[in-house]
Amino acid sequence: MSEKHSAYEYDYLIVGAGLYGAVFARQMADAGKKVKVIDRRNHIAGNIYTRLEDNIHVHQYGAHIFHTNNEDVWTYLNRFARFNRFTNTVVANYKGELYSLPFNMYTFNKMWGVVTPQQAQKKIEEQRAEIKGEPKNLEEQAIKLVGRDIYEKLIKGYTEKQWGRPCSELPAFIIRRLPVRLTFDNNYFNALYQGIPIGGYTKMVENLLDGISVELEQDYLKDREKWNSIAQTIVFTGPIDEYFKYSLGPLEYRSVRFETEKLDTDNFQGNAAVNYTDAQTPWTRIIEHKWFEDLGSPVTIISREYSSEWKVGDEPYYPVNDEKNSDLYRKYKKLGETEENVIFGGRLGEYKYYDMDAVVASALDASKKELERVR
Ligand code: UDP
Repeated sequence: MSEKHSAYEYDYLIVGAGLYGAVFARQMADAGKKVKVIDRRNHIAGNIYTRLEDNIHVHQYGAHIFHTNNEDVWTYLNRFARFNRFTNTVVANYKGELYSLPFNMYTFNKMWGVVTPQQAQKKIEEQRAEIKGEPKNLEEQAIKLVGRDIYEKLIKGYTEKQWGRPCSELPAFIIRRLPVRLTFDNNYFNALYQGIPIGGYTKMVENLLDGISVELEQDYLKDREKWNSIAQTIVFTGPIDEYFKYSLGPLEYRSVRFETEKLDTDNFQGNAAVNYTDAQTPWTRIIEHKWFEDLGSPVTIISREYSSEWKVGDEPYYPVNDEKNSDLYRKYKKLGETEENVIFGGRLGEYKYYDMDAVVASALDASKKELERVR
């Protein structure tokens, strides 16, 4: 063992006990490295944290439905959790009219009365004709995908509430997350594997962190010197701009606020997620948590989800990957590359609208590269 190495109590200090941090920690611990994980919150699992209340696994930071086409990621996570067979089928409520999401034959039938895929295709073709050339923003992309009627009723209001910006100023890729199908298939995701960890996400992260030293309510940024002195390498999964004290200016994030209520009924809305796609309803969606893993609770717990612009002190949820912020992020990334012995990762460390499977893939990849580097 080198002298430098032995000067540190830990090889890796992982800042953030979310999914990225937990996977990175697991990989390093399995490779025989000495690892410590800290988090400023009072619980592990970051935004995928779930808690059990009234026999309902409550997704405290919003709905998380694991889905992937990545065989390696799926096999990997199945070491730490068994997944149920939950399939996300979202309902959109537009001023009391209910539509099926993602955009499929049920949606087209309700919107236009069309019955066959050919009729639906014809309607879409007619409406998409108004967009000439490559779509330059989310609005144009949405109309090009499904036409103006669906854009107006099911996309515009929801998207503008979620992002607090006009669709004409948002990047097109956001809407391409949603499938468009000419079949009667309500599955929100195009993924080979999908489900919720039985017993909740927190248990899965607990299993990932098994045998690893974890300290909660420890804020790395409040005492960098102390934490840097105990570990050779830092893996930082918090916001990269905060790490650099916002020296190039703050990146923009969207935050989410939940109003959670317990109701004395066993079935409030008959589905895990109902989106409110009009502009007037102040919340974007209502989650009824019991439908992620039905344990037969006689009551129900719902969360109304409100989107807001992030400000210092709020929890950042979504990076705003528009041009302005992407440019600023690239500058922070450059700064990050000059930072010795620090790896930035995860949704906040890489300022990326990552799904969970992409986070796991990214952590597996980064940990593998790191192990090759130090070998
Ligand atoms: N979206 C929409 N209407 C909906 C649901 C989603 O237009 O009812 C679009 C919208 O542009 C949104 C994107 O799809 O920003 C992703 O939304 P989703 O709710 O799937 O994102 P999540 O918060 O679950 O990552």
